[in-house]
Amino acid sequence: MEARGIPAEPQAIRALAERCGHDGGRFLARVADGSGPDLGDLGALAVELGLSEREMTGLALAYAFEEEPACAVPGCERPAVPDGGRLGECAEHAAEYDARAEAEAWGLARKILGPWVESTREIGSDELTQVMEKALKEVNDAGSRAQDELERAEAALERAGRDV
Ligand SMILES: [Zn+2]
Repeated sequence: MEARGIPAEPQAIRALAERCGHDGGRFLARVADGSGPDLGDLGALAVELGLSEREMTGLALAYAFEEEPACAVPGCERPAVPDGGRLGECAEHAAEYDARAEAEAWGLARKILGPWVESTREIGSDELTQVMEKALKEVNDAGSRAQDELERAEAALERAGRDV
């Protein structure tokens, strides 16, 4: 604030807050030690301070999170990929999540198709059996590719964990 020509004195800060439509006392309490009720929209304050959009975004993030947003996976402190993960994961967790979902989907497909192929064999039509066995082979191949991908993603996640 001092860089903006506003002395970091309670009186000046209170006056600034009141110019922007905030309650001076509440604003001071919030700025001083983070106590007091949420201040709501700080847009007018940002305008009054002449903040650039970048500074405003930075202030908003600091205000909301008090730090850079981190990965949503508990215990993981790598930064979240902006607009990357659905839940705001880091790159490694997002990749592992995708790979696991893919592997699980193929696993489920195999579980469904396996018994179908068995019952097709019992029907005794060579042509139908061939079609179904080919389908099962394709599912198995895709499933093992997805499994390889999952193992790669898990290894990358472990390496990233060691580098921290
Ligand atoms: Zn993570």
